[in-house]
Amino acid sequence: MRMNKYNLIFLGPPGAGKGTVAKDVVERLGVPHISTGDMLRDAVSTGTDLGNKVKSVMESGQLVSDELLFDLVKDRLSKRDCEKGFILDGYPRNVNQAKALDQIMDELNLELTSVIFLDVSEEEVVKRISNRRVCPKCSRVYNLISLQPKKDTLCDDDDTPLIQREDDKPETVRKRYQIYSEKTAPLVEYYRNRNQIITIDASGTVDKVDEIVFNTLEELR
Ligand SMILES: [Zn+2]
Repeated sequence: MRMNKYNLIFLGPPGAGKGTVAKDVVERLGVPHISTGDMLRDAVSTGTDLGNKVKSVMESGQLVSDELLFDLVKDRLSKRDCEKGFILDGYPRNVNQAKALDQIMDELNLELTSVIFLDVSEEEVVKRISNRRVCPKCSRVYNLISLQPKKDTLCDDDDTPLIQREDDKPETVRKRYQIYSEKTAPLVEYYRNRNQIITIDASGTVDKVDEIVFNTLEELR
């Protein structure tokens, strides 16, 4: 069977490198990367009825409901640039949304190719994120292991001492990882039961993970 479409979902904990890998896949396959955040922002900026609804919900500080997300995702996946496929990132987040997505794809006559699950341990995620440092002046991001500043702990651009964000502290990272695991485990199970999940060992470097993902996608053809 030769697939000419890649309708993909990317799953993975914060720090798995999901965004970076998705970007590289987008470049190679020429399919859009659809993250929930971008989708919401785009909808708001278009000023359509749907976009205005999202805007008022976001401005009131409430969470965007599953119903609204349903309409948004359906609208987004029916756009022309999704003809060759897409990468969904950040949606679905739970089993209810996965079921909603099934319905959307049914209605649009689309078929899910695979769910790419970037699997990485809590220890590895803590190691990666807790080594992040940020310049408080220009917001440039460093990593003490993989993306070191030239001068010890000073920003290359403006010599400002780098700081560690609250979000990047080990305790916070562990908490986020646990919340993520609890929410995502049933989702992984849902797709595993349908033989749609492909687990990728994401503990290596970005290049290594890219290579595994590309080889996997190649095999799907
Ligand atoms: Zn700086």
